[in-house]
Amino acid sequence: MTKHTMKIIWHPDCFKHDAGEGCHEYEPSPLMEINEPHPEGPERLLNVKSILEKGPIRERFNWQVGRHATLDEIAYFHTPQYIDFVLTAEQDTPSRIDGSGTVVNPGTIDAIMAAAGSSIEAVNCVIKNESQCAYALVRPPGHHAQPGMADGNCIFNNVAIAAQHALRSGIQKVAIIDWDVHHGNGTQQGFYERDDVLTISIHMPLGDWSDHHPQKGTVEEVGKDQGRGFNINLPLRYGAGDQAYQKVMEEIVMPQVRDFQPELIIIACGQDANQLDLNGRNLLSMQGFRQLGHLANKLAQELCDGKLVLIQEGGYAITYTAFCMYAITEGILGIDKPMADPMAYDCSIEKPDYVIEQIEGFKEGWQAALSMHR
Ligand SMILES: [Zn+2]
Repeated sequence: MTKHTMKIIWHPDCFKHDAGEGCHEYEPSPLMEINEPHPEGPERLLNVKSILEKGPIRERFNWQVGRHATLDEIAYFHTPQYIDFVLTAEQDTPSRIDGSGTVVNPGTIDAIMAAAGSSIEAVNCVIKNESQCAYALVRPPGHHAQPGMADGNCIFNNVAIAAQHALRSGIQKVAIIDWDVHHGNGTQQGFYERDDVLTISIHMPLGDWSDHHPQKGTVEEVGKDQGRGFNINLPLRYGAGDQAYQKVMEEIVMPQVRDFQPELIIIACGQDANQLDLNGRNLLSMQGFRQLGHLANKLAQELCDGKLVLIQEGGYAITYTAFCMYAITEGILGIDKPMADPMAYDCSIEKPDYVIEQIEGFKEGWQAALSMHR
């Protein structure tokens, strides 16, 4: 087994998905002289790839080209009707398949198949002991995609497909920790009645953002039937910051994952909680992400022989997303002399007192929801 290195699975087809331009992720605004590229563009991950290839710890990464998923593998999580809908969607020009920001174009099918297949290969690397930790550097993201629905720039749910693949490969229990700044609603939906996949989402309190997106990301959404107690939502206030994320990891996420005793941990690894992200407001710096990487690896070492898979989700600041992903890898690999943060502001915006108060509220809300009459 290779220790203290990370496998990175990527695929050039992931860069073929071009969502065009708009008013952020929405339709171009007639009020604007200059519309901007859709935020979920290839540039964000080209920069992640670049910093990992060129940065001071580049020799700690082993690169591997992934593969396309098969349609059978996509069906591990998605319904046949939905898969057919995606494959037959109008793709000659960028078109929006969810009435909102999720776009398909001529390169999309190759990208989503490569993203799902490369996520599966990241799981394979880890469960075959080729590497303790593997990172699927893929796009478009996936965690908003429900079994039968696209949403929020996500078409196929890479994390959920990878988790299903792990279970089909003999892993008994998988914990998914989603630290993308948005609620992992699609993953929650797919595993909501399951007790073999623990889903935890740390996010900003965006609520439900459309009629077809009923999940709200509140602490009261605890799972259903057999899955009751196996979904945990941790909606942190806007502006939460580095210390809040560390506390919520140490006081809630890590104890819950320890209770669950997974054989594999998958991180829905967004960097859009960063302080410069156009789609997030939770103000993490590189240090915050470094700490998340450190704690995730600590859990994996403690519970599942280090088995840790990271699958790329959001992160829309073209430059800072790359620096934050780099910091996550430093945390996982235990780098003594981390890279200086070129963009960190003073973190005095943080108010840890209210975070501690909020954590107590989470614990009470969680217990109250579980003890309610079914
Ligand atoms: Zn996100």
